[in-house]
Amino acid sequence: MNQLLEIKDFSVTYVNKSKKVYAVKNVNLKINKGDSLGIVGESGSGKSTLAMALLRLLPEKNTQITGKANFIGKDLVQLNQKELKNIRWNELAVVFQKSMNALSPVHRIGPQIEDIYRVHKPNASKEEIFSRITYLLRLVNLSERVYTLYPHELSGGMLQRVSIAISLVHNPKLLIMDEATTALDVVTQGQILDEIVKMEQTLDVTRIMITHDISVVAASCNKIAVMYAGEFMEIGYVKDVLKNPKHPYTRGLLSSFPSLKGEKLKLTGISGYLPNLSVKQEGCIFAPRCQHATEKCKQEKPLGVEMNENTVWCHLYSSGGELINEDQKPVY
Ligand code: ATP
Ligand code: SF4
Ligand code: MG
Repeated sequence: MNQLLEIKDFSVTYVNKSKKVYAVKNVNLKINKGDSLGIVGESGSGKSTLAMALLRLLPEKNTQITGKANFIGKDLVQLNQKELKNIRWNELAVVFQKSMNALSPVHRIGPQIEDIYRVHKPNASKEEIFSRITYLLRLVNLSERVYTLYPHELSGGMLQRVSIAISLVHNPKLLIMDEATTALDVVTQGQILDEIVKMEQTLDVTRIMITHDISVVAASCNKIAVMYAGEFMEIGYVKDVLKNPKHPYTRGLLSSFPSLKGEKLKLTGISGYLPNLSVKQEGCIFAPRCQHATEKCKQEKPLGVEMNENTVWCHLYSSGGELINEDQKPVY
């Protein structure tokens, strides 16, 4: 089977003393082996919550996760701590924007990665470990010399390359990157994205790339999922969605971003703000900001409409994927 991860009716709610925050609501998603899926959406749309919930890194005390996340025959939602420990790094790894901060400043890079390697392979020989680590360092364009350096001797880009190498140490099947290149300058970001694409072809890794920057997805992903206020608006192949976005929110988001090498602009394409996620809203979650919203939009949540291999959640389209009213082409 080609499918690696299937998320079904997956919801995440933060439960604090005084209120609930419905951060991710009934999302459905399939990821095939070899996919590189970019999840985009403005700040607060639930991208990191989705990733952290899949990784089961959210504190159980004040988080409710419901639904299913089937990953290589296991439901991530149901795994106990011991099972999670076995799966993390081995099958499922993550790189955050601040992953580099996890490195100890008083130890050299190589021995720090050795320790991580030994967590799952305590009996590995020194030669095996050294050969794996130097192989990974080369893969992310770092020389063997980095093995003996301290973190303060590396640039931000080199440190993030080390974080990526660490995430790959046990050859995970799925790599989740959450704003992993956001803090880097545009040139370094572009180089690292190229390296990531090459690396995953070599190592056969499937990737989820979380970013608010569509140009990162354009440069490094084959599929894109557009998220808004905890829900998916549009999912499809990058080549289709970026060329011909179907959902009004996707169009608004796209109109706010120039190219990877250009200056990043503020999100100006859509007026208004994200809704209050503590209040359950009927109908389309984007309706308060959508220029096409009708009474139906305010009352009925749109179902996913399949268009070739893409899916769009919007009442503008019939179940066959055609615009219901030709005069209602999405604007922005
Ligand atoms: P960004 O692009 O800024 O990283 P995001 O898309 O990753 O945003 P999340 O961080 O997942 O968004 O946040 C989704 C929603 O959940 C936001 O409304 C946020 O305020 C809320 N949230 C996040 N963490 C908590 C928490 N621990 N308790 C309550 N609400 C939270
Ligand atoms: Fe706009 Fe209605 Fe489509 Fe929602 S369902 S995006 S409100 S047209
Ligand atoms: Mg985030």
